Amino acid sequence: MNLNECPYPPSPVAVRAMRAACETVNRYPDPSWGALVAAVSARTGIAASRIVVGNGSDELIVNAGRVALEPGDEVVVPVPSFPGYNKCAALFGARVVAVPVRDDGAVDVDAMLAATGPRTRLVFAATPNNPTGAMLPAADVARLAAAVPSSALLVIDEAYHEFAIHAGGDEHLPALARRDGPWASFRTLSKAYGLAGIRVGYCLAGSDDLAQAFQKVRAPFNVNAVAQAGALAAWDDLDHVHGILDATRVERERIAAGLRELGCEPFPSVANFVTARTPRAAAEVVAGLETRGVLISRLMAPGFEQYIRVTVGLPEDTDAVLDGLADLLGRR
Ligand SMILES: *Cc1c(COP(=O)(O)O)cnc(C)c1O
Repeated sequence: MNLNECPYPPSPVAVRAMRAACETVNRYPDPSWGALVAAVSARTGIAASRIVVGNGSDELIVNAGRVALEPGDEVVVPVPSFPGYNKCAALFGARVVAVPVRDDGAVDVDAMLAATGPRTRLVFAATPNNPTGAMLPAADVARLAAAVPSSALLVIDEAYHEFAIHAGGDEHLPALARRDGPWASFRTLSKAYGLAGIRVGYCLAGSDDLAQAFQKVRAPFNVNAVAQAGALAAWDDLDHVHGILDATRVERERIAAGLRELGCEPFPSVANFVTARTPRAAAEVVAGLETRGVLISRLMAPGFEQYIRVTVGLPEDTDAVLDGLADLLGRR
């Protein structure tokens, strides 16, 4: 329960497709992921020429730096948020301008815009945000899209997109489409599709030019043949995804309610994890749970020393984590 992985196996159709793909791995994979891009294009309405597949969206996050950054540039990131953004900035010698999230854990759009200046070349905003779990309404993404200067690449990290839509959240592509400057939405099959192990993410780019910039900086065969086959088969098995989303909501609500009962203060989350302030140091809570065989994570941002993040698991995992926490927080 520490890496926001899906606790359920992937679609059986995807497993069959991956087994079959093993038979032909003497051949290189499709370097332009044709079948997968066509499927993503059909569902998202984004032209195939604007879709770039990555070895996980982790690869796309690093490549956003290759595309946009030079030493001395500024990258605006929310904090706490995904550690990959800081790594991206560090790799290219850029300076991170960290902007605290709102009290509800959502990206603070006004503060992000206030932090954006003439040296800003890249802005990362995750919705729902990891590790807090809150999402932005379309109006907030529209404000980012309109007011981030066109000299900066705006990346909306939608790793939890499917969870947001399932919770009644907005589609952000229409708001992004109205932006004058460069933008990209990053999504992944690692979370809702239960395919973290095969590393497939995709970039929906605001223009052909931007997609070509991402193409130029990537490795030639960046997504292996087994992964492409699995992702394509999983993409079409929406029943499987919906089953995962339904089960995730049930356990997420049990975890949040259980945490509140134990005196913790959870952020409102629509994603596959719950982050909460605990009455004790998070490092002690994490270590204590580990000795009980339960792995969770904690927030590393300054000021969040008492915050833990619990990934939604199976129903029995919810029982185990709440049981362990009851012991550690002296609530029995
Ligand atoms: C999990 C996660 C990613 C990385 O996803 P991969 O596709 O597995 O690399 C990116 N961004 C956020 C916010 C995440 O939580």
